[in-house]
Formats: sequence, C-alpha cells, structure tokens
Amino acid sequence: MAKKLVEKAKALQCGIALENLKGICKRMEKTVRKAQRRQHSSWSFYQLRQFIQYKADLAGIPVMLVDPKNTSRTCIQCGYVAKENRSLRDNFCCRACGYVDLADKLAAENIRRDAVN
Ligand SMILES: [Zn+2]
Repeated sequence: MAKKLVEKAKALQCGIALENLKGICKRMEKTVRKAQRRQHSSWSFYQLRQFIQYKADLAGIPVMLVDPKNTSRTCIQCGYVAKENRSLRDNFCCRACGYVDLADKLAAENIRRDAVN
C-alpha cells in the first residue's frame, strides 16, 4: 500500500499529506486493556506511516503532516466545524449547509486542503 501510494504520488508529481498522529502511543498505553483491537489498528497505521515516509524519502516525495484536529468535523463546502456533523460513523452531514459526504473522503479532502495552505 505504501509503495503504491508513493508510486502514484511520483507519477502525478504530488506530495503526500498525512494526519500527524503524534502522541498516539501515550494514548494507547492508557486504553490498551480496554481496546486491544483499536491498539492494533493504531499500530498498523503508525507502521504504515513510517513506511510511507521511508519510501517517499527514497523517491524524493515531500510528506506533509497535518493536524488531525477537526479533519473529520469540518464541512468542505461552508467551513462549519461541529462534532455533530459526523453523527454516524461513516457519514458526514453538515448541520449548517446540509452538505453530505463519506466521512473518510471528507477528512481526506480536509487533509489535502490543510497541507497546501
Ligand atoms: Zn457546510
């Protein structure tokens, strides 16, 4: 997956933007017993990020880290930020303008926008 991503970025002459999940380890230590599954997925993501960074460095692709705060709560259409915008796990619905999107797609768009700004 990391290899594919870096190859695509190279072909498109793009950089890669990722959420900066620094501090994830500390948070995990606390919740390790409660959420073993979550721990596992967090670690996998951390490893994936390390791998992307490594491959991107080799290929000379810039990697930007974006503050993950509000990336899944901000409307890309009107900019309205609210926890309620994401009431269902996979869906985003803006309480201000009614914009509807898949939560992951919306977060990705916000990450892209934060990275170029
Ligand atoms: Zn909106």
